[in-house]
Amino acid sequence: KGTADAFPTPGAVADVRVSTRDVNAKAHAIYEGVKPGDPLSFSLRAPSLLEAFDRVCSTGKEERISWIEKVPTETWYEAHIAPIYMPGSANSGRTHLPDFILVVIQDLPENRRLERMRTDFVAYASHELRTPLASLTGFIETIQGPAKNDPEAQDRFLAIMLDQAGRMRRLIDDILSLSRIELKAHVRPVTVVDLAEIVRHTADALSPLARDLEVDIRISLPEGPIRLRGDRDELIQVAENLIENELKYGSSGKYVDVSLSLMDTAENPPMCVFAIRDYGEGIPKEHLPRLTERFYRVDVESSRALKGTGLGLAIVKHILTRHRARMDVESEPGEGATFKIYLPALEEAEDNAVS
Ligand code: ADP
Repeated sequence: KGTADAFPTPGAVADVRVSTRDVNAKAHAIYEGVKPGDPLSFSLRAPSLLEAFDRVCSTGKEERISWIEKVPTETWYEAHIAPIYMPGSANSGRTHLPDFILVVIQDLPENRRLERMRTDFVAYASHELRTPLASLTGFIETIQGPAKNDPEAQDRFLAIMLDQAGRMRRLIDDILSLSRIELKAHVRPVTVVDLAEIVRHTADALSPLARDLEVDIRISLPEGPIRLRGDRDELIQVAENLIENELKYGSSGKYVDVSLSLMDTAENPPMCVFAIRDYGEGIPKEHLPRLTERFYRVDVESSRALKGTGLGLAIVKHILTRHRARMDVESEPGEGATFKIYLPALEEAEDNAVS
């Protein structure tokens, strides 16, 4: 066993040429490829880690950085990268450069993870708001200056400005919605609602949009109600976001199928499945695990053009967590996308008591 095995967490020692000298078993478990003698960069793919490593090599100053690995599951890591100076080494005294570099990796603790998510979110949100704001300011200046006496141009610019203001409003609405839901993330809803009625109501409300996009919504609902404990407004928001996404991003498929049913298993409480399917272009596989991240969009331009904020599915995910529900997304490129939601329905005895 080498020095690195003395660490409680994954760690490695490398020399300044970034050749791995010593690596412990825990690091080996995460990064299979790390072998003494090989460049550390072979296996540590995280670019921010490698950049920090280079900085420590050249400055001789310690660094602490964090990053997220997306595969196989989302994991947040933090690394301490520190220089080691060997007394009496050939190098010592001649330069300030370290003889070796020590890398110690650990899972980012929960509180630091939340802190990082919060700062990322604020940075993203401000960035998203700044773009329409810059456009508004630009047009105001144009109307005050070059287009001062050009009513036709003014009309055109005012229409764009209204559009940009609308985009800012949608962003702010979604950000507030997300933070309200987060506040009650751990409080389970108590009211009993009928999901069949909610789905029917939402599909009706979206029929004008469907008509505009020339998409047919085909609905298949059970005869009777499907009762569960839930927040009506929030479940409407879930159905609305999902059906609207399929209408917008899947409009080339001409149909959107919305169905609701109780699963045919002996489970208690019984599970109900709310499935929404489109026949559009679908979503490439590598994007599927990230769709519910805030501001994550497969294609930023098309999302903007379709009045998206990138927050819809993040809101859906938070509402579902509160409802003890889960969501599955399946998609093959060219074959459309299916979003399936599994929600616990009322237990039979309870359901009989309500009806
Ligand atoms: P947005 O406000 O951009 O619609 P969402 O969080 O609702 O944000 O969705 C995130 C991204 O997922 C969208 O920008 C789009 O790229 C992709 N997406 C969602 N639903 C579908 C779908 N049915 N077909 C293809 N892409 C989809």
